[in-house]
Amino acid sequence: LSVGQLEEARRALDAPLFADVAGDCAVSFEFFPPKNEKMEATLWQSVETLTPLNPRFVSVTYGAGGSTRERTHATVARIARETPIPAAAHLTCVEASRAEIDAVAEEYWAAGVRHIVALRGDMPTPGAKFEPRPDGYENAAALVEGLRRLHPFELSVAAYPEAHPDSVDQAADLDNLKRKLDAGASQAITQFFFEAETFFRFRDAAAAAGIKAELVPGIMPVTNFAAVQRMSAMCGTDVPQWMGRLFEGLDSLPDARQLVSATLAAELSRKLYAGGVRHLHFYTLNRAELSYAICHLLGLRPQPGEARVAA
Ligand code: FAD
Repeated sequence: LSVGQLEEARRALDAPLFADVAGDCAVSFEFFPPKNEKMEATLWQSVETLTPLNPRFVSVTYGAGGSTRERTHATVARIARETPIPAAAHLTCVEASRAEIDAVAEEYWAAGVRHIVALRGDMPTPGAKFEPRPDGYENAAALVEGLRRLHPFELSVAAYPEAHPDSVDQAADLDNLKRKLDAGASQAITQFFFEAETFFRFRDAAAAAGIKAELVPGIMPVTNFAAVQRMSAMCGTDVPQWMGRLFEGLDSLPDARQLVSATLAAELSRKLYAGGVRHLHFYTLNRAELSYAICHLLGLRPQPGEARVAA
């Protein structure tokens, strides 16, 4: 290292942590539909906690095979009705005809929901190859096209910094992403990943493939390391070895795990911010505090009086 580089490294180490963030990063939060009253209360508390941070939108997932169709709808509609935050509904093509999917989208439009996260989805049996219905949408690009024809929805799609497991290679995966954007989606939210470099390489490759739309990193704060390892294996996300070491011995120490988790996700978010990212999407797992803490470290503060959940 040159003297100049050493001095720069020393300055970076001496700078107060998170001093380089300006609180100007947009955020969005993802929830899943609750299964029972207790989970519903937790979810709603989380929405209330995170709403004052004025997220760009909050989204609600759609269970495998459309299994949460009613619950997703009820949750999204309630958010749209009772909070000032734009609500986005996830929608998949699995085991439904085009007419059925269009009917769900029409219900969203009627409920005032203007943003859909359009996905292909996965078969209800884990690991089973995706089989489109003959009368259904064959993939997310076809779904985007179908939704575009219905109403001027804002449409988001999924992107995969480490390539989707079904794709031949990254180039084919990027072609697929481009098709979804060209069909009418305005942004792509990424699968979770754990190294900022993974996202930066992906962003460069997407730009080289002619993709101009915003790529929004999906941040998964890890609360249950074993579960995240299982999920990562299924979706092709690399779990770096150093991360395993950081969670070692913490199985019976949930508070310590939370602290480690917040530190890692905040550090990843800070690096992404330093690399120019100005919108982060948090997989909240319906728990507000972790995502709130990370946003706080990024300089976000409640907007008094602006964003209030209806009493
Ligand atoms: P697509 O983009 O249609 O395709 C997936 C892959 O298949 C592509 O990457 C491509 O490699 C290949 N492919 C597709 N079409 C072609 C073609 N014509 N030619 C060649 N290759 C092709 N799942 C849920 O069930 N509910 C949710 O709410 C949900 N939310 C999600 C939110 C985000 C932000 C992300 C990243 C994922 C989410 N998922 C959800 C998971 C998603 O459904 C799965 O990853 C699914 O396997 C792929 O969906 P997709 O929309 O990316 O599919």
